[in-house]
Amino acid sequence: MPEIAYINNNFIPLEKAFIPINDRGYLFADGIYEVIVTRNGKPFLIKEHLERLQRSADGIILEMPASLPELSEIIETGIRKAGFTETMVYVQITRGIEPRRHNYSAKLRANLTMTFRPHPEYDPQLAQGVSIITVPEIRWSRCDIKSISLLPNIMMKQRAVESGCQEALFVTEEGLIHEGTAGNIFFIKNKTLYTPQADQYILNGITRSYILQQAAIHGIKQIERECTLQETLKADEVFITSSTVDLLPVVKIDDSTIANGHPGPFSKVIKNFFP
Ligand code: PLP
Repeated sequence: MPEIAYINNNFIPLEKAFIPINDRGYLFADGIYEVIVTRNGKPFLIKEHLERLQRSADGIILEMPASLPELSEIIETGIRKAGFTETMVYVQITRGIEPRRHNYSAKLRANLTMTFRPHPEYDPQLAQGVSIITVPEIRWSRCDIKSISLLPNIMMKQRAVESGCQEALFVTEEGLIHEGTAGNIFFIKNKTLYTPQADQYILNGITRSYILQQAAIHGIKQIERECTLQETLKADEVFITSSTVDLLPVVKIDDSTIANGHPGPFSKVIKNFFP
């Protein structure tokens, strides 16, 4: 099956899809995005993802080039056309195309593109737990916007990978944990689920919200508040969540082993919340 792209209102083979050099996404990372994966062939939590896309657009004062039902329709069509067992859909909206200057024309039309690629099967090795590193929080104070400006995230993710680790966790000078470069952080202490509150310093993950909702249904006590690195290191369980990984147990942070160094029971229970 070929990977496909949606560009200029058409589905075409991915390798034939090109962006004009004056696209403000290319020039300034002036845009927003979503990553949606399918489960059992259906886009999982698509409504929530598209609503967040709208919030991101509002956050950067960008007029969406299509309505949410139209976007939903394009995504469903792309998934059908691609024909993969499970698909990873990448949706990007940039402010539009015009010669480079920092400010933009009021009438600029946003540029919508998507890619449809196979969603790789979950690597069972990851279920054994991963190691992560901590890195200084060097990002801006609107991390709630899912912006394509991701330089700090990619630099820190690269640092993690080069240290043989799976993720990098942003930690403030005051010792507060925020989130990973591409996922939210949770820990369990005394059977209670903790995660940093969804403010402007983290992206409020769709997976994060889903887990909190499911945990409530299953009677798991949960607390959203400022969380310190010190208490995370002493937690019974730690995990990272995102649309592409669901839940990734963390068994080591820098040089500290979490609990007995193996994923705990809550991580397994919560992983089973996913269809
Ligand atoms: N935080 C950041 C910085 C991310 O990039 C992501 C996902 O890409 C997440 C959190 C998790 O978000 P979601 O669960 O919606 O995939």
